[in-house]
Amino acid sequence: MTHAARAAAEPLPSIAEPVVSTVREHTAAPIRPRAEVPWVSLRFIAQLRMTYLLCEGEDGIYLLDQHAAAERVTFTRLLREYEARSVPSQALLFPQVVDVTAAELELVEERQKEIAEVGLDVRARGATSLSIHAVPRLLSRASPERLLRDLLTEVSRSGGRGFSDAVDLALATMACHGSIRAGDGLSANEAKALLVALDDADFAGHCPHGRPVVTFLSYAELERKVGRR
Ligand SMILES: [Zn+2]
Repeated sequence: MTHAARAAAEPLPSIAEPVVSTVREHTAAPIRPRAEVPWVSLRFIAQLRMTYLLCEGEDGIYLLDQHAAAERVTFTRLLREYEARSVPSQALLFPQVVDVTAAELELVEERQKEIAEVGLDVRARGATSLSIHAVPRLLSRASPERLLRDLLTEVSRSGGRGFSDAVDLALATMACHGSIRAGDGLSANEAKALLVALDDADFAGHCPHGRPVVTFLSYAELERKVGRR
């Protein structure tokens, strides 16, 4: 039997077979796979498919989702700034004009102070439009209109619960839109900076969106799989 024929005769591993353990972001569970392993101790090896960061640790291989990890970091920082009521803003070189409904305009005028506390500088420009003059500095890579819509959506959805309840959800969505995305190229230094930042962001979490930040394959598991054990 040729090698290829023998390989073909062997059953393929089932897709459902648990190869790795995953940890979820934005849940009560800590996001690091091993509490005693600081993110910064991992050695960054490569970016894969412009989406994943391959890292090596003492105990195995760590594959981070770069967007989920960056979003976690951005959200933590933004929430801290917001809770201290000191969200630094970045002024826009050219204010962005946005068409809105009368209800949205009313909401913006009613909530001027609270919107400013989130780091957005928004001004009415007539019956159906407003202009955005500054955005939270942490989110300067996002579209200003996107950020405003994230906030307005959560605030109007919250209905009677009011602004403060909606803000956590809004900040999470804004952090999503203001973070490194899949498809963004990352230098080795940027990847290392993200690992350092994760140590600071890695607390028992707060909030909504839940995607795994990291996938872990231990060397013990790897060795079992390749028949070394
Ligand atoms: Zn996201």
